[in-house]
Amino acid sequence: DRGAPLLDVTDVRVAYGDLVAVWEVSLQLRPGGITALVGRNGAGKTTLINGLCGLLPVRSGTVLLDGRDITALPPWARVSRGLTVVQEGKRVFRELTVRDNLVLGLRGGGVKRGERESELERLYARFPILGDRQRQRAADLSGGQQQMLAIATALATRPRVLLVDEPSSGLAPVFVDLVFEALAALRDEGLAILLVEQLVDEVLGGIAEDVIVLDRGRVVVRDRASNLSVEDVATSIYSSL
Ligand code: ATP
Repeated sequence: DRGAPLLDVTDVRVAYGDLVAVWEVSLQLRPGGITALVGRNGAGKTTLINGLCGLLPVRSGTVLLDGRDITALPPWARVSRGLTVVQEGKRVFRELTVRDNLVLGLRGGGVKRGERESELERLYARFPILGDRQRQRAADLSGGQQQMLAIATALATRPRVLLVDEPSSGLAPVFVDLVFEALAALRDEGLAILLVEQLVDEVLGGIAEDVIVLDRGRVVVRDRASNLSVEDVATSIYSSL
């Protein structure tokens, strides 16, 4: 037994109008674990992430956080209960400073004013480059630094569950390594992480303990990473092409 799930997703369906993009997907996330969500373009990964964080409505099925039903809650209410997303594409407020982006995260997570400076220091300790650049506009950061800021802003909400959509996309290798190191550290601190990732080698090379392969909106493989080879996963991703 691996303990009670923190996030318990059962038979979730997400659709765009009549187009069902995610069909009855179930998954469980536990504290201190990373589950990788892989699949080719259009498989439904982002749609599932957006359903879980409340950016898209869930048509049927349930999403439980700590056993409580959050299926119909708006995104901000999920954030305040400990479920936060890092959306695809390095989303930051480009015209705001690094610091002000982080403060928005702190406010979203209900961090009190009196704790703000100490929380910022904790985030700068984790991501020193953000401390160095705290007065600069986010737009002036490199792509890799913006992805760090997006992750740090999500952490500022003090999540217990983190959904991370393709954080390595478009980043130089040195930043890919930094992103994976940051996620591994968060896992070791007890976060439950769902990670959408195209880099199957990285996923199986140690960062994820569980792997879910989506194909046309359905789970086609679900296993411990240690039971799967890169070839197994690549085959299951591309077999139906
Ligand atoms: P990618 O790796 O390209 O981001 P993905 O696995 O995240 O792929 P989704 O973006 O979730 O896939 O797309 C799943 C399906 O839903 C695809 O068929 C896509 O065309 C469709 N889809 C995605 N966004 C919309 C939208 N806004 N309106 C209508 N259909 C959409």
